Amino acid sequence: MARKVLTLAEVRDGSLRNVSFEAIAAAKTIAQGGEVVSVLVGESVQSYANELFFYGADRVVVVEHPNLKNYTSDGYSQALKAVIDEEKPEGIVFGHTALGKDLSPKLAIKLNSGLVSDVVAVEEAGGNLIFTRPIYSGKAFEKKIVTDGIIFVTVRPNNIQPLERDESRSGEVKAVSVDIKDLRAIVKEIVRKTAEGVDLTEAKVIVAGGRGVKSAEGFKPLQELAEVLGGAVGASRGACDAGYCDYSLQIGQTGKVVTPDLYIACGISGAIQHLAGMSNSKVIVAINKDPEANIFKVADYGIVGDLFEVVPLLTEEFKKLKV
Ligand code: FAD
Repeated sequence: MARKVLTLAEVRDGSLRNVSFEAIAAAKTIAQGGEVVSVLVGESVQSYANELFFYGADRVVVVEHPNLKNYTSDGYSQALKAVIDEEKPEGIVFGHTALGKDLSPKLAIKLNSGLVSDVVAVEEAGGNLIFTRPIYSGKAFEKKIVTDGIIFVTVRPNNIQPLERDESRSGEVKAVSVDIKDLRAIVKEIVRKTAEGVDLTEAKVIVAGGRGVKSAEGFKPLQELAEVLGGAVGASRGACDAGYCDYSLQIGQTGKVVTPDLYIACGISGAIQHLAGMSNSKVIVAINKDPEANIFKVADYGIVGDLFEVVPLLTEEFKKLKV
């Protein structure tokens, strides 16, 4: 059955987040040959429409308003609700990002629909759409089908392969005018806690440090390795609690959930709460002095050794590969 499916495109720091393209790919599967409509919301965002076409959107709807310059759940839900009322989609796909996690339940309630959140795979089998999502902190997966109403899902970043970028694709851009008002919160300024760099939740490579890194200074070799690999630096709660780095880098049950292609854990013991945030990474490398460390149980490659010796060696070797 062909469906019209709407996706939310997320713009941050002047570019579209990758999850916007992953949402389009998921929407294509849900649409089953129907139309995929991507929605751009912001103050001045129409220029991003072409990129959405290149990644497979059939049509782009743009809602621009000064009150949408920064994300607020009131502003974005008014914009999205107006678009949904006009477009009447049978499916909706958001990224399972901080924004998507905040906005999707609020909209689902307004639409009187269900919500399948944190989806890592979408497939069609026997006439049913099957959504896979991790449960019990990633220790098991459940498969869900939606039997009634709008199919509303959020997709975990880095899990669904975007369509190949094709600059020959194009489509119609439609502007929808919505009066965004009665905001209960207004974002006046965004102050970044961490330095600019690769976004942890979308990073393909993460070099994470734990208490074994021993100091803020001890994170420097990890930063160098991350830089050579074009990745981001993450941390265990142990390292954050010890004051070696900011909590915004924390990965785990009470931190960020990440699924990079490569996760390099340095001086991290592998507590269950840490594994909850990274055990679904595609390849895990663990560097630890203790051969009995729990992290080796989930690692694809383990290096028993001192991270202050091993990490600089890896950086040097990767540098050689780059030239
Ligand atoms: P440690 O357990 O102290 O491990 C340090 C490791 O470094 C050791 O294995 C040691 O062998 C190794 N090491 C030391 N020196 C070196 C060296 N020179 N070279 C190589 N290896 C070395 N934790 C999280 O990470 N994320 C969470 O989201 C999270 N949420 C939590 C929620 C709750 C409710 C609770 C109770 C706990 C939570 N924790 C979380 C904490 C978790 O239980 C662990 O305490 C924490 O993950 C330990 O951090 P660590 O591995 O860095 O430190």
